[in-house]
Amino acid sequence: MALIPPRFLDCVVAIGVKHPDKKDENEWIGTGFLIGRLFSRQADGQSDYHLFLVTNKHVLNDLQSVVVRHNPHPHSDQPAKDYEVLLIDDHGNKRWTEHPREDIDVAVICTRNPAILDRDGMRFSFFRSDSDLLDISKITAMGMAEGDFVYVLGYPMQTFSPDRRYAIARSGSIARIRDVLERRSDDFLVDVLMFPGNSGGPVVSKPESASVQGTKAIDRAYLMGVVQYAVRYLDRARSELNDRVRVIFEENSGLASVIPVDFITETIETCFANTVVVEAERADFGGKPNKYYWVTIIKRANAFWQLGDKIECVNIYEQPDSSCQLCGKHPIKQNYVLLNQRSGKTITVGSICVANFSDAIGICGEHVEILFPRKYAREAKRINTMSPCSAKIISETAAHLDANMADHLDYHEQHSKYHTT
Ligand SMILES: [Zn+2]
Repeated sequence: MALIPPRFLDCVVAIGVKHPDKKDENEWIGTGFLIGRLFSRQADGQSDYHLFLVTNKHVLNDLQSVVVRHNPHPHSDQPAKDYEVLLIDDHGNKRWTEHPREDIDVAVICTRNPAILDRDGMRFSFFRSDSDLLDISKITAMGMAEGDFVYVLGYPMQTFSPDRRYAIARSGSIARIRDVLERRSDDFLVDVLMFPGNSGGPVVSKPESASVQGTKAIDRAYLMGVVQYAVRYLDRARSELNDRVRVIFEENSGLASVIPVDFITETIETCFANTVVVEAERADFGGKPNKYYWVTIIKRANAFWQLGDKIECVNIYEQPDSSCQLCGKHPIKQNYVLLNQRSGKTITVGSICVANFSDAIGICGEHVEILFPRKYAREAKRINTMSPCSAKIISETAAHLDANMADHLDYHEQHSKYHTT
């Protein structure tokens, strides 16, 4: 038997930064976890989710990028894999979303593409927005109170082996929550010893078969919130001479502050409302939202592209009644022919899907720019205004040579002509 469903542990990731000097070493600074936001239910009972990585703002603040570590499947020989997540785009804007209130320490990153983790043989899961979350109103309805048991999952004190990352579950109990239930406070306290590295980790309820008469037993584990910090107390040492405070010791009180799941959901909704996900769903289909847009282009883009492949836009032409081979939209006017330089295969797509291509194949900001020869500089710029850093202008011949040769080429400006056939 298990009290925590094993898939809950697969939702948790270690967050680190690249070591400034040692190339292959990472320093682990915090914990994060994946939440799936339900966006459609298929007729066959299958559900589709948009994935978001959740952690604390203070874990990501002031960083250019982080690495997120995933485990391979249990019987695999391959080591854990670290995925780089860019936090700042080329214009200096944050690629992550924070809760709009300054005092709510919640950050989320839209993770567009779990297909990459599947392809790499990584084992991962996510808390489901429709069934795994315990928000304040549900906590109230279940009659949870001080003394109820919880687990904090995470990676305290860099505790894991180099080739795997398994989360540690610390057990504790709710120390104070009635002020949150009465909406007088925005965080609840958990009696659990927390260390650096725990920040951003999920807090999960413990299933209980026994309960006080008149209250319900909690049938299964749920996500209750995210830990933000260990509550500290300050011990002041005074001078015997003049009774002034000379030294202040900071001690861990053994209590941790937890932000309820409600604030995580709000941050995810803010992120979702502001990302290109929604724009694309509306824009590509004559103003009508298409919930399957991302599912479709993620599937097709990944059938076309593998890690390391370079994609070049080799032709652009106008043909009023053509269809986009990525999302299926019909009709499109402007056709972009994208060439996979490794496989030699091409697909013809509309401008919105060119702009979204990188997001469809990238996980957490893994980034692939589509290469545009100079003659298409104007179209490349247009793509970049739709989705920053999606297109990169290259010297026309460089794309067909290997990377070493390209370094020695002269990059000469060619006058761009609006190209139509
Ligand atoms: Zn399209």
